[in-house]
Amino acid sequence: TRTPLIAGNWKLHKDCAESVAFAHELKSAIGADTDVDVMVAPTFTALYPVCEALKGSPIAVAAQDMFWESKGAWTGEISAEMIRSCGCTHVIIGHSERRQYFGETDETVNAKLKSALEAGLVPVVCIGETDEERKQGKTFEVLDTQVKMGLKGLSAEELASVVLAYEPVWAIGTGNTATPDMVQEVHAFLRKSVADSLQKELANAMRILYGGSVKSGNIAELMALEDVDGALVGGASLDTESFSGIVRYK
Ligand code: 13P
Repeated sequence: TRTPLIAGNWKLHKDCAESVAFAHELKSAIGADTDVDVMVAPTFTALYPVCEALKGSPIAVAAQDMFWESKGAWTGEISAEMIRSCGCTHVIIGHSERRQYFGETDETVNAKLKSALEAGLVPVVCIGETDEERKQGKTFEVLDTQVKMGLKGLSAEELASVVLAYEPVWAIGTGNTATPDMVQEVHAFLRKSVADSLQKELANAMRILYGGSVKSGNIAELMALEDVDGALVGGASLDTESFSGIVRYK
């Protein structure tokens, strides 16, 4: 059985003080016991104080991105070890906004993934097709490439900690959630693609999250789907009531 993961991606929202205040609110709203794993991804500058604020809480903290080198002349970059040293346990890699606006490719995703695993971070690897790709009937081809290229060259042991997040680009921030049928179809395909290219047991154990306009009103029907093991939430993760409502979807 796969423990569900409910993850909040704060994107470019909340400064240090706001992030810390919000972390304290979430800590008390979510409490010490949860049926699911919970994760939040503040901006880089807020990682350390948010990790401090969430000590003693089951809420894990992730960075929203990372660089693949561990040190050197790479002005402006942040390594997996640095993220780990803030107290983070997770990192989001390959979010579609990074792919769309910052030149992220399957090759850079793969390099980041390897470096994250070396540093002992749990990577949440994002994949998803654009509206145009879906309309052209290329959804499965695009996703298959993203999975195979993104996860290339990892050992079984490394793959065991990887979380996949399916986020159709057209569903992000638009209010257009993919229908449950569409989501289940893609998630089953992804599990099969992992099973075929990598390993069957791994595929069965791998958590596959859905992201794109998830809110407290649609989380239950998404979580009821056989191959959905959690959610990566953007907008609805930014306030305590809606995010804790999503965490307590049952
Ligand atoms: P929204 O929940 O705002 O659609 O964002 C989804 C997302 O991109 C999470 O990473």
